Amino acid sequence: MKVLLSLLVFCSSLTLAEPVPPSPFEQSAQHALPSSQEISAYLTVLDELSPQARLVELGRSAGGRPIEALLVSDSNDFLTGFSPQQGKPTVLLLGSQHGNEPSSAEAIQLLARQLVAGEHGELLDKLNLVLVAMANPDGRDLSSRYNASMDNTNIDYVALNAGETRLLVDALHRFDPDVVYDAHESGIWKRILTKEQGYLTDVDAQFDMGNNPNIDGELLCYTEQYLLPALLERVSASGLPAVRYRGEITDLKQSVARGGLGITNLRNYAAMQGRISILVENRLDNKQGRYDSPRNIAERVRKQLISMEQMLGLIADEADRVTRLSRQARQQWNSSAEDGRTLWMAVSFEVNMHEPVVSLPLVRMEDGKRKMYSFPNHDAIATDEPVRLAEAYAITREQARMADWLRRHHIEFEVLEAPRRVTMEQLVIERLVVQPKARPGVREKLQAVVQATPISAELSAGDLLVPTDQPMGPLAALMLDPRSANSLYQESEWNWLAEGEFPVFPVITP
Ligand SMILES: [Zn+2]
Repeated sequence: MKVLLSLLVFCSSLTLAEPVPPSPFEQSAQHALPSSQEISAYLTVLDELSPQARLVELGRSAGGRPIEALLVSDSNDFLTGFSPQQGKPTVLLLGSQHGNEPSSAEAIQLLARQLVAGEHGELLDKLNLVLVAMANPDGRDLSSRYNASMDNTNIDYVALNAGETRLLVDALHRFDPDVVYDAHESGIWKRILTKEQGYLTDVDAQFDMGNNPNIDGELLCYTEQYLLPALLERVSASGLPAVRYRGEITDLKQSVARGGLGITNLRNYAAMQGRISILVENRLDNKQGRYDSPRNIAERVRKQLISMEQMLGLIADEADRVTRLSRQARQQWNSSAEDGRTLWMAVSFEVNMHEPVVSLPLVRMEDGKRKMYSFPNHDAIATDEPVRLAEAYAITREQARMADWLRRHHIEFEVLEAPRRVTMEQLVIERLVVQPKARPGVREKLQAVVQATPISAELSAGDLLVPTDQPMGPLAALMLDPRSANSLYQESEWNWLAEGEFPVFPVITP
């Protein structure tokens, strides 16, 4: 017995000869935030210290800063070839996509440090990890929500304008994660609610998951019915009160819903690809409060770390179901509609008839007292404009530009070498309805009222054909179909919506 024990000690000391240094944030007595360069240097140290860690550069930010992923895994195959493993979920953690929400970048370094030091061994038995501490290093150094070119990458997942978004989309393709965890902070101080009305919001940890109704039915059901409630329970039990995200409360006279339904955010973009996609919005304390560290950053980092640890523990315990359901959804998407093939082009939040009003806590600025306040509850999800998933989409306008955009999304397509006769639906836009600016849930600006007519038509050489029988198929349909509230044409650079025949066609028989 004695021999075996000392052998184990010897083995573990083999994997780690040197002590693991604390992160730059931990080293700073004043809890100063390290620069992106210091964080990169620290991740490099972890990479060099441990054979279970490998730092991979994903690309460069608009401001020329590296964006890196630290892979942490027991498996050499995963570290070298990124190959997924049977029954072992790959989990991608993204920190500080908004640079002015810095706590998750620090928490990810702490997590990485602990893993490299041999803590959380039970997690590495069950999971392969991809840790992106800084999704937006420009924002980190500039204390900004945006990158150095002022792009908000967080809502760029359809247009893919920003290099940072494209690089994270590439990372989804490259590492093929089963779980994506996107960490944010939500300020309790709001311009109207606080400055004009005298209230701060009062939430600690808020979570949401992919909630677009077009997500694979079984996956959506599992995350909605089981995984999200289980996560809230575990985080709360660990001492950090967790609730489901209500969106941002910025005004006493507003309604509340949930995290946005659109696929322009990473959460729904990744979930439409068949991944379990989790958003955390941890509390960002206000500037005026008194704390032990600047703006309570030490406490905020601690809360982010608890949130991550609990999430990873849950995914590890659920490893079998997580891999089975997410991989099945990526192999063969099935809509939650009865026929399994229906996509809803219109989705929105509506009044919840069972619970039309909800009471949520706010804190009064003048005396710090907690007060419950009632809000109209618009968290019911309404679906409209059901469309059966077409076999393919034919694109007959700006084909070269469209081909570039499709490649950025890793959507497969064919460029026709010769004219081809197909049966397809001609979509004629009869009129365009301007949508109210604050329509909750989606970013639809113009709603196209469309007449669809089956026709036999000849596509020309050079036209593009995008088959939907591919993992990206249903997501491609939501972006390419002009009836969709989240179509590409809602983005300002793609102003294609106009009355008359539309140049993109759902194909019935290619
Ligand atoms: Zn954010």
